[in-house]
Amino acid sequence: MTDAPLKLFNSLTRELETFTPVHPGEARVYTCGPTVYNYPHIGNMRAYVFADILGRTLSHKGLKLTHVINITDVGHLTDDADEGEDKMEKMAAEKAQSIWDIARHYTEAYWEDVKALNIRQPAKWSVATDYIEEMLEFATSIADKHCYELASGLYFDVSTIEDYGRLARAVTEEGEGRIDTVEGKRNAADFAIWRKTPPGEKRQMEWDSPWGPGAPGWHLECSVMGEKLLGFPFDIHTGGIDHREIHHPNEIAQNQAFCGCGGLETPRNSGANIWMHNNFLVERSGKMSKSSGEFLRLQLVIDKGYHPLAYRMMCLQAHYRSELEFSWEGLEAALTRLKRIVMAVGRLSDAPSGGAIDHPKFAPALEKFEAAISDDLNTPIALTALEDALATKKVDQGIKRAVVEHMDMVLGLNLFGLSREDLRLRPVNAQISENEIEDALERRKAARADKDFATSDAIRDELAAKGVEVMDGDPLGWEWKL
Ligand code: AMP
Ligand code: ZN
Repeated sequence: MTDAPLKLFNSLTRELETFTPVHPGEARVYTCGPTVYNYPHIGNMRAYVFADILGRTLSHKGLKLTHVINITDVGHLTDDADEGEDKMEKMAAEKAQSIWDIARHYTEAYWEDVKALNIRQPAKWSVATDYIEEMLEFATSIADKHCYELASGLYFDVSTIEDYGRLARAVTEEGEGRIDTVEGKRNAADFAIWRKTPPGEKRQMEWDSPWGPGAPGWHLECSVMGEKLLGFPFDIHTGGIDHREIHHPNEIAQNQAFCGCGGLETPRNSGANIWMHNNFLVERSGKMSKSSGEFLRLQLVIDKGYHPLAYRMMCLQAHYRSELEFSWEGLEAALTRLKRIVMAVGRLSDAPSGGAIDHPKFAPALEKFEAAISDDLNTPIALTALEDALATKKVDQGIKRAVVEHMDMVLGLNLFGLSREDLRLRPVNAQISENEIEDALERRKAARADKDFATSDAIRDELAAKGVEVMDGDPLGWEWKL
């Protein structure tokens, strides 16, 4: 491990804790993945940029990382508690397609976003429907002591374990504030771990079980895949902050039941030593949504001409535990910052890579970087350390290059893979090609050299009519902007 001890905020204890691996030299991380009933919005993708920074930091600290991200293709209802329809079934009905086709399509779309944001591939993408047998075993093993059967399913009785809802803090055994319509539940916070198919119906996705044909509950899926793939207790469980309220308290309750563990004064009884949650990306008008307003998909960002890594930059400029407000102006500012960094990196591209990075000139920037990233993944400060390194004067360019590479392994901005041109604003609906713009600018340059300002102005106006702004004297050296 590198010097500074890694401190992470544990939502379970609400404290910063020094990371101590369960298995020496290793880090095992489980991230709640997307429900593949629709495209992810960029808020969802913030959760995976955060998990990626966490994974990269653990690798940077010299730990052997095993990261699992699941794909939820069954069981997530339109309400996180036990209300509503299965999101997958609902979308399949709307689109008149099979659930399997819906799942395949949106899983692939999600993976494209993962790639575009330079999120590293986890050790495993675990698909919920591949683990039905294991879910049945898990449910069977806790059913007698912790569950009861109703007409609609097998329910978990939250009063059978200690400290239910500690993660959420606000929730009590009675499930304070939850509106409940399932008749016969012992406590309002009880939840279905298996949902029975109503008699006389046949679902597209259903499996036999000791409680009749049906489908697993969403919370059961994550408990089972975490246990099977990483073993209890594993190191870190991540998700968005909404999961702190229902999904993760329910996962924890099942985990406690499964391992026969006691209360949560001992965090590992929850199944993981540390639970981490990223805050939301919000729009000025409120919560980000897939159904109302502009559907903020990463593809929309790309269509408007922004390189997707500008969005990654935007995420890194905020601490993961802070709410981040999305705006197009904010995205443009993040793009400009990325452009400046990429231009400075471009000047290093001829330098041979490598060399020892522990040169005294870079020590302050490297120390700042290490302290920042070790302080609960403080990427906003780590970014300034990167800029400090790039601004260091009178130094060997090869060493500078190695320092920037070292930092970018954690930040994942792909700085040596990006060129200035990649970062041009390029809306898909532009009315003019880049070659035409470059040609016009050449002609304009020639006219100006001949002091033919009438022609030069005419060319400028022609370009303006096609949405191209000519940028004479731009400090970043950009000649035009669409
Ligand atoms: P879902 O596909 O709905 O299960 O969500 C995928 C992930 O995105 C989960 O970890 C959510 O907690 C997270 N999430 C949902 N909305 C947002 C948002 N606006 N900002 C950040 N994370 C979010
Ligand atoms: Zn989950």
